Amino acid sequence: MALSNHYPARGIHSFNKTYMSIPYTILSFILFSCHTTRFASEIEAPKHQPVKTVTNINPPKPKNVIFMIGDGMGLTQITAGMYMNGNHLEMERCTSIGLHKSYSANELVTESAAGATAFSIGMKTKNGYLGLDSAGVSHTTIMEDASKNGSATGIIVTCSIEHATPAAFYAHQKERDHFDDIIPDLLNSNLNLFIGGGKKYVDRKTKDTLSLVNQLKNKGYLVNDYHENDKTTWIIPDVKKVCYFTADGEPLPYSKGRTYLPIATKAGIDYLNKASDHGFFLMIEGSQIDWGGHANDADYLIAEVLDFDRAVKEALDFAEKDKNTLVLITADHETGGFAINSGKKFGDLSTSFTTKKHTAALIPVYAYGPGAELFSGIYENTEIYVKLKKLMDLK
Ligand SMILES: [Zn+2]
Repeated sequence: MALSNHYPARGIHSFNKTYMSIPYTILSFILFSCHTTRFASEIEAPKHQPVKTVTNINPPKPKNVIFMIGDGMGLTQITAGMYMNGNHLEMERCTSIGLHKSYSANELVTESAAGATAFSIGMKTKNGYLGLDSAGVSHTTIMEDASKNGSATGIIVTCSIEHATPAAFYAHQKERDHFDDIIPDLLNSNLNLFIGGGKKYVDRKTKDTLSLVNQLKNKGYLVNDYHENDKTTWIIPDVKKVCYFTADGEPLPYSKGRTYLPIATKAGIDYLNKASDHGFFLMIEGSQIDWGGHANDADYLIAEVLDFDRAVKEALDFAEKDKNTLVLITADHETGGFAINSGKKFGDLSTSFTTKKHTAALIPVYAYGPGAELFSGIYENTEIYVKLKKLMDLK
């Protein structure tokens, strides 16, 4: 099966081979017309779920998976973080690198709900949908499958825990912004660990005044109050379920004093590693890289990339010692059409943006640990789910 975006490349190749003698201007015109018409009509609204094409190789399988998402973190965001950080990022330690195609079922440019749902259920869906396919049918997420399989499961984010990316791993809803509908799914999720903001959405719903914090406690969660002042070390108590609110609403940006992500990453890994003999599945999101992109604020997004990369260090340090943990680092989409322009140097970049929205650029995937080689190549975002399920032995 040929995906639509294979056509233009093949077209260019055969034209060049056959018609080299035709004057170049005419040839360019024909080529350009064919290229744009065909590309536009086929990519704008993909009609079918892409065929899943997991390779036949059988790499070693990891016991634990740490899945890290830098929301809105395209290649230029990564490059800018690197060039502002002495030309180095921790994610360079990864041994396998690939690219994924981030478009959703109904838009060339995706958003976080559809982007994370592609990872969590392995199907392209409509923008705004959480844990549902494009027809609105609910599918079990990889996090829920891992939990049923006996793995310890957790989510650590720098947004509220009800926000689109984390919610795509436990909720099944058509409206990413309807937190009142998302929270009952959170209560029923059975995950071991939540760390992130958004206490007020659980505590003081918009529909009624019933606090669901007690319901979280009734479900067995140890619920800790939020705090704006971070600890430098963090030990999560040895209880079955923990929900730790880091803010009443959305957590602060890194530049305004939030520093918990790497600390929570280390603590969360230690906690989940002790919680089950069947390994763990942990999703970590650097949520505010995206918000820096929407604000067209290069300093904001670069500070968030570097904070996320410090969490990457904690994950890779653990995986390096453990030797049985896969670390996967990617993004749901690029935000801002971010560019690095000429005229400056390392540590002092000239940057610009083309939009305050998301873009459709290919997104890098970095992998380290058992099974990492499965993530090289260019593939649909849904393939990440397929590859992870294969590696995690989930049916
Ligand atoms: Zn966004």
